[in-house]
Amino acid sequence: MGGIRENVAEVRERIARAARKVGRQPEEITLIAVTKNVPVERIKEAVDAGIKELGENRVQELLEKQAGLAEEDISWHLIGHLQRNKVKYVWNRVRLIHSLDSLQLARELEKRAAPAGERIKVLVEVNVAGESSKFGLPVEAVPGFLKELTGFKSLEVLGLMTVAPFVNDPEEVRPVFRRLRELAGEIEALALPGVEMRYLSMGMTNDFEVAVEEGSNMVRIGTAIFGPRQ
Ligand SMILES: *Cc1c(COP(=O)(O)O)cnc(C)c1O
Repeated sequence: MGGIRENVAEVRERIARAARKVGRQPEEITLIAVTKNVPVERIKEAVDAGIKELGENRVQELLEKQAGLAEEDISWHLIGHLQRNKVKYVWNRVRLIHSLDSLQLARELEKRAAPAGERIKVLVEVNVAGESSKFGLPVEAVPGFLKELTGFKSLEVLGLMTVAPFVNDPEEVRPVFRRLRELAGEIEALALPGVEMRYLSMGMTNDFEVAVEEGSNMVRIGTAIFGPRQ
């Protein structure tokens, strides 16, 4: 592993290569650097290398790092499971919440944003492979869930997110990414108010090239930028 700057350059190059391979423009794809367990000084190196979007799993860690990087021009993404009792700390501090997975959580987000006259941008997390260890809605539940969400005027649903199973050969999870993209198409055809399929958040260190080939436009990369986590 090189330094963080070299790693960022290499990840960008690999994203670009995967995009071109399937006739896409590399600029379509947003690189989110995932900073869980990474100290602020190391995150700064990534920001110095041009990273503008950061992703955190946990609310507490996100708030601490936001404070530590207050000078920087950064958009934050909450990519991990969000507990209802944490919503009040974070709902207006991130660009996008990737992990909407229940009506109870939607209700809590609405409850915060509506009185403030604000809108919260969210992705719906989908457990495409049906792993019991993972958060997210089953594929079949997503259209019905989104129909119920149309009553939540403060939520702007901008797409779907998934975490694929960890496998040795990323080709094995290609069908997972393909299914998420197909699901986005099925949802688009429903033309639900307040629902737009602008983002597909899929692809991590182990599988992002395959995800890009299958239509991802938001990849969430930790290890390939910062090295293995402690
Ligand atoms: C940790 C994490 C990532 C990044 O994982 P790497 O394999 O280190 O790239 C992406 N998305 C989510 C939801 C994560 O929890």
